[in-house]
Amino acid sequence: MITVLKFGGTSVGSAEALKRAANIIVAEKNDKVAVVSAMSGITNFLVGALEDKNVDLEEVYTKFEERHMTVAGEIFDEERLESFRKDFDERFSQFKALLNDRDNWNDPFFKDNVSSQGERFSSLMLAHLISSMGYKSVALTSEMAGVYAIGNPLSGSCDLKKTSVSMAMNVRPMVESGVIPIITGFYGINEDGKPLTFGRGGSDYAASAIGNALDADMVEIWTDVNGFMSADPRLVPDAVSIEEMNYSEAAELAYFGAKVLHPRTIEPARMKHIPVKIKNSYQPEHPGTLIHNLRKKRDALLKSVAMKSDLSIVTLRSGEIAYRPKLMAKALDKFGEVDAIYGVSTSLSTMAFLIHNNDVPKALGNLRDMDLEDLEGIDVKSGVALICAVGDDLLDRSGFSGEVFGAVKDIGANVEMISEGASDVSLNFVVPTESAADVIKILHSRFVSGVEQ
Ligand code: ASP
Ligand code: MG
Repeated sequence: MITVLKFGGTSVGSAEALKRAANIIVAEKNDKVAVVSAMSGITNFLVGALEDKNVDLEEVYTKFEERHMTVAGEIFDEERLESFRKDFDERFSQFKALLNDRDNWNDPFFKDNVSSQGERFSSLMLAHLISSMGYKSVALTSEMAGVYAIGNPLSGSCDLKKTSVSMAMNVRPMVESGVIPIITGFYGINEDGKPLTFGRGGSDYAASAIGNALDADMVEIWTDVNGFMSADPRLVPDAVSIEEMNYSEAAELAYFGAKVLHPRTIEPARMKHIPVKIKNSYQPEHPGTLIHNLRKKRDALLKSVAMKSDLSIVTLRSGEIAYRPKLMAKALDKFGEVDAIYGVSTSLSTMAFLIHNNDVPKALGNLRDMDLEDLEGIDVKSGVALICAVGDDLLDRSGFSGEVFGAVKDIGANVEMISEGASDVSLNFVVPTESAADVIKILHSRFVSGVEQ
């Protein structure tokens, strides 16, 4: 039995946090592998340095070293500090060599390499800490463990097959002999051996991919909250944490507002039916949220409601566009470069796309070179928010959407766009941003907690 335990930035960001993480890891009864993020703030610091035209590299090195060595000084005795320092210096000189050579800066994967550096040091620190507690532990970079990635800079995906083969050789024997590997999250290496990151916040996904590759029995994501909540507690004070969800519900929710989990985390675990647990490293006794295949009968209609604001609806108008699928395909293609399409809705003569405000100029720029004869007009409606209501088998509950929209109407909000039927666990619709918080509150009180206020 193997458990993969992933610790986020705040769970390895200080001496206390590292000790908490180490205690959680050694208390795990199964064979185990840990996956870590960089210490909190470090990835932002590295990305910031690259974006600063007048960056003073010496200052970057000093700050980076200080942050890690200060914490190391707090958790290690003299002897351990010395052996940590040796390993630290080895990695640190590679880090400096990478940044000092200006030729590297033109490499398309340079940013991936630099931003992945934090993980290399947090993993080292945690492995030394666990060793100092009398257990066998080793820090493995993704290069050493054999985590492979494919795709474009800053948005890679794990090559699960290749990773599985290499981890069977590099990692499994270690785990089976009682060693605890601490592996860097956030990135894999591409076919040229270059670091390729999985996008910001991608260590959750890395842990799930590693769980998949190792055929793990459990993936635990240790973070700083008690799992998924039924709504944002800042909006809904009686929001509760959700004990159990299925994979689809968690994926839909992660994709929306809920920042608890990187949205791509679910898929690699789901493929192999590996349960994922979200746990709070500050409150390890709290059950958190268990995500798995099982369905449990519940009384409440909805499990959670979330929102995403700063969105815009871009509507294309053209007579009888519905009878011109080629034109529709062409229009869709123009949205190919936006970060995400949060919804699409069509009618006889319109096609509406829901995208982030920041992506509107890009989309309009691309639409400009569409044949004007084809399109009669383009409208943009900004200042809208997407509401995502998640629950089991919503499609099977007759009249449910009527009830939901009835609630929305009761607070006088206007529904601007609807996406229903695409997923059987979520009902998504768009309202003006100023109504979004009230919509969340009424849906939560009517359909989650069942106590209308
Ligand atoms: N350290 C990376 C980031 O800040 C990856 C992660 O934390 O998941 O984006
Ligand atoms: Mg995270």
